[in-house]
Amino acid sequence: MALDTAWALDWVRRTASTIDDHRAELVTLDREIGDGDHGENLDRGFRAVVEALDSGSFDSPGAVFKVVATKLISTVGGAAGPLFGTAYLKAAQAAGDASELDADTLVAVLTAARDGVVSRGKAEVGDKTMVDAWTPAVDAAATAATAGEAPERVLEAAADAAATGAESTDPLVARKGRASYLGERAVGHRDPGAQSTAYILRAAVDAA
Ligand code: ADP
Ligand code: MG
Ligand code: MG
Repeated sequence: MALDTAWALDWVRRTASTIDDHRAELVTLDREIGDGDHGENLDRGFRAVVEALDSGSFDSPGAVFKVVATKLISTVGGAAGPLFGTAYLKAAQAAGDASELDADTLVAVLTAARDGVVSRGKAEVGDKTMVDAWTPAVDAAATAATAGEAPERVLEAAADAAATGAESTDPLVARKGRASYLGERAVGHRDPGAQSTAYILRAAVDAA
């Protein structure tokens, strides 16, 4: 289907559902290298987002992303709340009032989201954070769009790369966030924010 408002709404609902399904797993990942709240934080946030979407009406993907941003910022807290909140806020700005996202706009949206995370958290690829999922996703999306792929395929390329990017955090020492206090002890554990980013982007594919 087209990446329109109905898709954006379905993406968010599927995100809430996949985060709920993986809440315990994300809590476990965060318990290993953080403070164990990542799954709870995101689950609380996306529940609040779905409630807000149920009680409003929206005429563009950008309008949907804006609500996600506002609700995540006000309900999630910790590191991930402002980071994902900024990602969705920048995504909303890049989507503007377009009624659907074509391949190039989708790349612009994903790039803006990633740039928002980077400008807020100052992490680079290899620091064992959600940037390790976001940046390969953006790069793969740009490559697919340049090759003339349809928006759904661009999205799939992004989600596949985010999943691989999340796996790539396993052997790393963390240089940002709570996990950076652990030094070598973080090695062998996946970064929870990179894994949740991969789930969020997979939900976007499933909605399309
Ligand atoms: P907190 O660490 O405050 O408890 P969460 O557990 O919800 O917050 O989120 C932790 C995740 O946030 C990490 O797994 C990592 O992906 C991400 N993160 C933390 N600091 C940064 C940063 N500076 N830049 C990018 N991502 C970060
Ligand atoms: Mg945490
Ligand atoms: Mg915390």
